[in-house]
Amino acid sequence: MRKNIVAGNWKMNKNLQEGIALAKDLNAALTADKPNCDVIICTPFIHLASVVPAVDAAIIGVGAENCADKVSGAYTGEVSAEMVASTGAKYVILGHSERRAYYHETPEILKEKVQLALANGLTPIFCIGEVLEERQQGVQNKVVYDQLAGSLFDLTAEEFSKIVLAYEPVWAIGTGLTATPEQAEEIHAYIRSVIAEKFGAEVAENTSILYGGSCKPSNAKELFANPNVDGGLIGGAALKVEDFKGIIDAFK
Ligand code: PEP
Repeated sequence: MRKNIVAGNWKMNKNLQEGIALAKDLNAALTADKPNCDVIICTPFIHLASVVPAVDAAIIGVGAENCADKVSGAYTGEVSAEMVASTGAKYVILGHSERRAYYHETPEILKEKVQLALANGLTPIFCIGEVLEERQQGVQNKVVYDQLAGSLFDLTAEEFSKIVLAYEPVWAIGTGLTATPEQAEEIHAYIRSVIAEKFGAEVAENTSILYGGSCKPSNAKELFANPNVDGGLIGGAALKVEDFKGIIDAFK
């Protein structure tokens, strides 16, 4: 059976001390009141080596927000998948719309990143989703199909089964706008049908597909109640323990 997951994406927020404090506070809250889903926090690179030992690995998994598309060498400023894994982190967000838009990450670049993440034992949390104009034109299914095909269709079914997907309509990220539960369910079901067609029904059934985009304690339960929505990727609301735990508690 696929897992229910609530994953936080801290983005470029929190200095090291603030990040460690947030991780410890979340760990304390979830130790006192155990979650009914997997919980992941994805932090800036420099936090990883400190945040991993600050949390109970049985309760909170730790991930990076990105990794390089190269193995190693003269790529100043880059951080490789192997380096991420060496901190004890287990996950890496890839293909976030901010990376696609601001850092020009193409499907080909993301394909390399996914393969390096998998080769280093990391679970990619692979993000897909359309911009507002594409939703208005009604081409959202084609957009997510192309994003999946462009970066993930070269994987074997066994490799694909290690991926977590996050559907994140770009128009809902950080905007306060949220997809309705019906909109989320419709496209999640479509994404699952694409996986079934390409990798088989069993792989599709076992793939966790998270929703991301202005998810908060007040709307999480409704969104996660849909049969094809297996949790959330959370930006802004992951920066406060109370809000993040409120979303995690949607599974109670
Ligand atoms: C995100 O960046 O992945 C995200 C979902 O952000 P927010 O929750 O702030 O919309």
